[in-house]
Amino acid sequence: MEDMKMSGDEAPIIGKDALGRPVKDLSVIPWWGVDRKDIEWYPKINYDRCAGCGICFITCGRRVFDWDKEKGKPVVARPYNCMVGCSTCAMLCPCDAIEFPPKEYIKKLVVENNIVRKAFEITKPLSKKNEKKPEGTESKFNP
Ligand code: SF4
Ligand code: SF4
Repeated sequence: MEDMKMSGDEAPIIGKDALGRPVKDLSVIPWWGVDRKDIEWYPKINYDRCAGCGICFITCGRRVFDWDKEKGKPVVARPYNCMVGCSTCAMLCPCDAIEFPPKEYIKKLVVENNIVRKAFEITKPLSKKNEKKPEGTESKFNP
């Protein structure tokens, strides 16, 4: 699981967005060991509905969106910067103009990539209930 240790801190800075904020290429960071570019999770904008308020562009901390100054609308400039499973921008959009694949797409990824097992491998050593208890202190009510 070496590649799971790579963090956003290590992603290269590739420029600035329309607000002058630094932009990183987060697509180089694998997701649970899977190449991020093999995962089709990112927002799609329905421009027939989009009012151009900019909430999505301003809010997304991963700089998935940039801004089309001519049209006064957001663009999905860096789709693979999107956090797999996140849908914050869609939740916040006042016009319901942002779409994502269905929830089942994520559930399938979790199963196919053994992510539950990988997560347990990380969290089990952290959990107090897995520490060996001194003899005679076990309780059936607090196993
Ligand atoms: S939040 Fe929705 S309406 Fe506002 S710019 Fe983004 S997509 Fe358009
Ligand atoms: S889902 Fe989250 S990470 Fe992806 S574009 Fe929207 S706010 Fe950004």
